[in-house]
Amino acid sequence: MRLRNIPGSREAIAESQYVIHEEETRAGSWHEIFGNDHPIYIEIGMGKGQFLMELARRNPDINYVGIEKYSSVLIRALEKMEEEETPLPNICFIRMDAEDIVKVFAKHEVDRIYLNFSDPWPKDRHARRRLTSHEFLDRYDQFLAADGRLEFKTDNQDLFTFSLEEIETSDRWHLNASTRDLHHDPSMNEGNIMTEYEEKFSSKGNPICKLIASR
Ligand code: SAM
Repeated sequence: MRLRNIPGSREAIAESQYVIHEEETRAGSWHEIFGNDHPIYIEIGMGKGQFLMELARRNPDINYVGIEKYSSVLIRALEKMEEEETPLPNICFIRMDAEDIVKVFAKHEVDRIYLNFSDPWPKDRHARRRLTSHEFLDRYDQFLAADGRLEFKTDNQDLFTFSLEEIETSDRWHLNASTRDLHHDPSMNEGNIMTEYEEKFSSKGNPICKLIASR
């Protein structure tokens, strides 16, 4: 996914009306940023943003924040936003590494967290970098609303097994539902919006895994 050195991407991100800068000063002010009290849903590692933009189109009463580490990827989402016939007022983006996410949202400020096709970090010594590791679950615990939930999709069986174990061995988190074949699970697949990676991997025949967790 990472596209290196796209000329002008940093400048375009700096100037975009859709990108929130100085994100570490924004904790507690997200409802003011959107100008309403609607729930706030975030996607961490949103890539080019197809999934989150479709959610934003379908659900004008929910605010969406997309988080992406790389400028060279975020710029693709911004290009898509420019193609929208009617600007979407309920979505914005942050370019940041989610390692620092607890600085960006206040306690209970976020109502849902989406993780889609997160980087697997296959080496054991990198396990804490996985976005479903205990380290990240502890971070999410600090800003997710009490009745908020986490939804995770992947085609990576090892990462999915790891994620189930992290949730099941956590004192705070509870597994609500899971499937290893989302597209053939009528109840979990209802209303499913495909991400870019989901389209790519399911077209190759890979089954898609999904879990939903809460506290
Ligand atoms: N969610 C998209 C999808 O399903 O099509 C993109 C999946 S892609 C494999 C993973 C994305 O997560 C990449 O764009 C990567 O740059 C981003 N990412 C990985 N680690 C991240 C982190 N710690 N903070 C923010 N973004 C991250």
